[in-house]
Amino acid sequence: MNVYNLTAHNSTDKQCYCVIWRLEPSGSQPTKCRTCIRLDLTPTEENINKKQLHLEEVNLRRTLYVQDAENEDSETKIYSADLQKVFLLPRMPKVKDSFFTSRLVAFNETFAVKGKSKKSPHYCILRHEGKAGRRADDVACSFIKFIQLQRDAESLIIWMDNFTGQNKNWVLYSALIVYINSEYCTTKNITLKYLLTGHTYMAADGLHGKIEQYVKKVGNVEDFNDFAEACNKAVSRNKVICLEISDFMKFENVCKSATGSAKKKSVGDDVSFLKDIVEVRFIKGQQEFFYKTDFRDEQYKETKNLIKRKTELNIPKPLTTVRGVSPKKKDDIMKALVPAMKPSKRLFWENLPTNLMFQIYWKKVSYAYIWTKDFV
Ligand SMILES: [Zn+2]
Repeated sequence: MNVYNLTAHNSTDKQCYCVIWRLEPSGSQPTKCRTCIRLDLTPTEENINKKQLHLEEVNLRRTLYVQDAENEDSETKIYSADLQKVFLLPRMPKVKDSFFTSRLVAFNETFAVKGKSKKSPHYCILRHEGKAGRRADDVACSFIKFIQLQRDAESLIIWMDNFTGQNKNWVLYSALIVYINSEYCTTKNITLKYLLTGHTYMAADGLHGKIEQYVKKVGNVEDFNDFAEACNKAVSRNKVICLEISDFMKFENVCKSATGSAKKKSVGDDVSFLKDIVEVRFIKGQQEFFYKTDFRDEQYKETKNLIKRKTELNIPKPLTTVRGVSPKKKDDIMKALVPAMKPSKRLFWENLPTNLMFQIYWKKVSYAYIWTKDFV
């Protein structure tokens, strides 16, 4: 069991509150969301009414999430997507040094079947920081890989956490516009739908729970191949895809402005616009996207003149060089943990690419900066 401490800031009276919550081994969401916590702490009449509206919105989204499974047919595939809590490699719980050694960060973006189909696989799209990190374009490439695997689907619906930054950002939206309009994509429309953060328990979370249970059972997960095997064996329908360097492309923001107005802020800063989106649809042949800010709306709104002038919507060339890890991180793992591994697992670590840049950054900038800028 992991225990987390969330500090909730009350913007009206500047008081701070600490709330301890429990994260289930499944990596599921905390039992209460920040909005619920904040409104419960000061139960004025106004806050009680706000809480009522908030819960109505939660129920509406959950109802739509459940109902969507009924809409699946041979041409429409419905999934829920979620990033599993980062996995640190190697996982060797009986080796004391493993708790004190900076380890390799591995990511699993899970796309769990939401529809009725019992045969379709769940996809675990895996990567590790030796190849790519946690930048928006790295995340976008996991989505593009998943969409490439759905070649027979005309329509794709993906439910996910309303998490601006990871699941809602201009690079991801740009990548989807570029990819759906490419000759390689046969999917005609892709719709992203967002549950409310803090109330987002989805099918993907259940799979993460089973992966963590499996990992506990096997004990050691010594290299990336072990992690892939754990994701594969934890659930019989799981299909594991390990991203190769050729799967990573440097997608960039090609959007000019959310509304096309020259007076508006640049689209990269237009976070408030993204924050209000509850559903967004990308359609083949369209260089705009279509969105709703309320699930009760029947009609989509449409962006105007979204794409920057003189922008070619070409899929970027695949990367040819890996990200690599700090030489110190590799060195520490090699000295402290690799000798305790089975010989067959050591080759992965010996071949793990390093990047001297991370060593330089590590020495020159603060830990907080490193963390936020993907230099873990
Ligand atoms: Zn809530």
